Amino acid sequence: MNLMNKCSTSLKLLERNSTFFRLYYKKPTDNDQLSVQKSRHPLSQTSGTLNADLRSIQNLIPFVPKQPYAKKHFSDQCDVVVIGGGAVGSSVAFWLKTRVRNGVRVIVIEKDPSYAKASTPLSCGGIRQQFSLPENIQMSMFGAEFLRNLKSYLHVEGENTPDVSFMPHGYLFLATDRSAQQLEENARLQHQLGAKNELLSLSMLKKKFPWLDTTGIVLGCHGLENEGWFDPWSLLMAFKKKAISEGVEYVTGEVIGFEFRKMPDMLIEGVEPGTYETVETVLVKTEDGEVRPIKFESAVIAAGANSRKVAEMARIGKGPGYLKTPLPVEPRKRYVYCFHCPNGPSQTPVVIDPTGTYFRREGGGHFICGKSPTEEEGEPNTEDLEVDYSYFDGCVWPYLAARVSAFEQLKVTNAWAGYYDTNVADENGIVGRHPYYHNLYIATGFSGHGIQQSPAVGRAVMEMMFEGGFKTIDLRRFGFERLIHNELLREVNII
Ligand SMILES: Cc1cc2nc3c(=O)[nH]c(=O)nc-3n(C[C@H](O)[C@H](O)[C@H](O)COP(=O)(O)OP(=O)(O)OC[C@H]3O[C@@H](n4cnc5c(N)ncnc54)[C@H](O)[C@@H]3O)c2cc1C
Repeated sequence: MNLMNKCSTSLKLLERNSTFFRLYYKKPTDNDQLSVQKSRHPLSQTSGTLNADLRSIQNLIPFVPKQPYAKKHFSDQCDVVVIGGGAVGSSVAFWLKTRVRNGVRVIVIEKDPSYAKASTPLSCGGIRQQFSLPENIQMSMFGAEFLRNLKSYLHVEGENTPDVSFMPHGYLFLATDRSAQQLEENARLQHQLGAKNELLSLSMLKKKFPWLDTTGIVLGCHGLENEGWFDPWSLLMAFKKKAISEGVEYVTGEVIGFEFRKMPDMLIEGVEPGTYETVETVLVKTEDGEVRPIKFESAVIAAGANSRKVAEMARIGKGPGYLKTPLPVEPRKRYVYCFHCPNGPSQTPVVIDPTGTYFRREGGGHFICGKSPTEEEGEPNTEDLEVDYSYFDGCVWPYLAARVSAFEQLKVTNAWAGYYDTNVADENGIVGRHPYYHNLYIATGFSGHGIQQSPAVGRAVMEMMFEGGFKTIDLRRFGFERLIHNELLREVNII
């Protein structure tokens, strides 16, 4: 279900509640913010009540249908087992099977085929080339190429043509005088790599986006091609359908451990001769509570925000030498708020304020927005996916209203939370073979930009596994080795 549908479904339900519809919030002033901290501000109290209503309404909205694909009875061996059937795992499976076809038996293990808490369907589906690292720019450029030619990649004979509703409306990054130089450098690199962006001076910004309040802004960069957003759920389903049509087996079950095999003849640098043990079997807990083994030649960890735990089952972060370094991927809860503002701008790209606050239009006066918390604001707890509406009031709305005066009057209509698959070491994907294991690959940690990179990542893993190394985009710097040697790769444009 795409975002517009999510918003409009909830709106239809809300239309019945005319009291709610008449109520518009007004942007809190600084004094209001202070009083919220001491005692709850009446506006905030109202919004709390409404939001509780919204949450109960939200629970009524069918979000993701049950998937019919997974098998109850499954094979006990394969060539490649992929742990995690989200966008990344399903892309890996798709690429392996379409490139290598009958030569490889692929099983994807997915613990929750409804994907209720997976990052993929809860993502905003944004795609942009405005990154600071060449690898991220190139992966996203390929992501856009893939989406534009989706039919040629993912069409299944006899099925509807896949459609992910790609909205190519660009991103607009805004910079203050402190961040302008970085924005220029990024734009130069993006140009060199073939991305089409334009740098906009203050006067150009005002002319192109008259609704934008440019206070404190000195420069903007607007993506002219291949940037925008799409429906992540449709991409996931298209990957999955195509993979299954090519013979990939999806198994419903949770990987709860590995079995190991001693390989005393294997010599690995940094490992004492005669002691090497590799992973050979995954243990899968089925829906019935049964634990069944699947033996494999190679395994791929693509378990999103849960990847660290899966890696620990393979002793990563629990052993000596190369195994000492943990896979630094953790869930980070992020809120996305949907709001209605009939007087808001009718055409917007995804606007990224220097504070990290973002918003984009969804059509008909509807918008979505969000922001990753600052260090001072602190990370929300990750026990559940409850939405904190006070975070909108205190930490998002003031920045929205400062950038677009029409946003001083708006109404939050819905919201959701999802887990970023955050690489807490340097917030970039980790892609490639683990340096200890000759048959264990990792594809995770994309920290809020993984859905757009999933086509490139799947292809990269396939190339590494079957073509002797990265052939199209050189992702060697994204390997696990950088974590062991503490040579971290910082991406400046994290949202
Ligand atoms: C609010 C939000 C907004 C976002 N916006 C964007 C955006 O605009 N653009 C963008 O590119 N990215 C965005 N992202 C990030 C993007 O969604 C993720 O990077 C991407 O979906 C990761 O895909 P994945 O397949 O690795 O993870 P997931 O989709 O989480 O899939 C991993 C799967 O592994 C399964 N699994 C875990 N452990 C096990 C186990 N032990 N056994 C079996 N299965 C297991 C899980 O059930 C899950 O289905 C956003 C994320 C969030 C939360």
